[in-house]
Amino acid sequence: MDGNSNGADAHNAFLDCDLLIVGAGPVGLFAAYYAGFRGLKVAVVDALAEPGGQISAMYPEKLIFDIAGFPSVKGRDLVDGLLEQATRFDTRFLLGDRAQLLRPVALPGGRSEFEVVTANGASVRCGAVVVTAGIGAFAPRKLGAGDEFEGRGLAYFVPDPSEYANQDVVVVGGGDSAVDWALTLHPIARSVTLVHRRRTFRAHEASLVDLRATSVEIITDAQVAGVFGGPDVERVALTGPGVEDGRELPCRRLVAALGFVADLGPLRSWGLEIAHHRHLVVDSAMQTSVPGIFAAGDITEYPGKVRLIAVGFGEAATAVNNAAVFLNPEVELFPGHSTDAGPAAPAQSEMV
Ligand code: FAD
Repeated sequence: MDGNSNGADAHNAFLDCDLLIVGAGPVGLFAAYYAGFRGLKVAVVDALAEPGGQISAMYPEKLIFDIAGFPSVKGRDLVDGLLEQATRFDTRFLLGDRAQLLRPVALPGGRSEFEVVTANGASVRCGAVVVTAGIGAFAPRKLGAGDEFEGRGLAYFVPDPSEYANQDVVVVGGGDSAVDWALTLHPIARSVTLVHRRRTFRAHEASLVDLRATSVEIITDAQVAGVFGGPDVERVALTGPGVEDGRELPCRRLVAALGFVADLGPLRSWGLEIAHHRHLVVDSAMQTSVPGIFAAGDITEYPGKVRLIAVGFGEAATAVNNAAVFLNPEVELFPGHSTDAGPAAPAQSEMV
């Protein structure tokens, strides 16, 4: 990931920008690129510690076949490309933080701005907002054992599989993510064990067939009851009808792939028109019912809406260009072609 990391000053920070993007999923990342391309000063906030939204959370190892120009692209590679594109400009990323409150701020001369306050106490002042919050703020379902080892062997994402090389890995879960991660990690790890609390899996049958052809040990009807070590994870204890009582596994890396819960939560109180309790109603400029607040991607609703990444990319460009005009009515809606703009300045983006 490009950019510096200095999380210490991010919390209780005050940020000033032209445009705040709420959500660093694929659509938010493309909106960040586009806003940088338009010369706007941009901040992006996401509840998850990793950018990429649903792709990073649910299918980083899957191939996607309907992104224009890519006959097939792995989810993880698409997110990497979007990040590289988004961080070409001076963008500030607030990751692992959630946009909470929205307040209009009256300025002299009848103008107004917005202040968005995050769960970690950062205050972001901006002239406009693009909400790319997808299906809501994600939080991983917790393992319920060994939470204190998070970041010290216990992970809810696998951003960099190479960190798992030559390690004893235990993956917990029965869905596609758990099976995909077991499949991804087994060629490089010393050992991989998949632990699932039920006998049957929710993952695709084809992935399970692939998994059974590997050396991954599959333990069903079992749960992780205890995590031991210090300072990092060293072993886990299992419980359940599928294992003999007190069975322990060596474990240096524990991946809890138990799914994510998504919650529109605080966005409901922003005074925006909401359809079906979960989508923001937008017009053809991607503006919500509140002037200056735009939206793009899965969260939007209008007649004929199709929830696909390809559609979200187009909406992001529309939302950002209209936000640029909202911020400065003197500028053109059409941004010109990127081919005429030349290469961007070296990346200055900051990830916190
Ligand atoms: P999301 O990806 O949902 O990202 C939204 C981000 O906003 C999240 O990271 C969330 O944490 C953050 N957020 C929300 N609220 C807040 C808040 N208050 N504060 C801070 N952050 C917040 N689409 C395709 O086009 N092709 C496919 O092949 C395809 N396959 C898929 C396979 C699976 C298994 C799934 C689950 C989806 C698939 N999709 C596919 C759908 C695609 O992933 C979504 O359309 C896409 O992710 C939407 O992008 P987004 O940026 O709008 O929202």
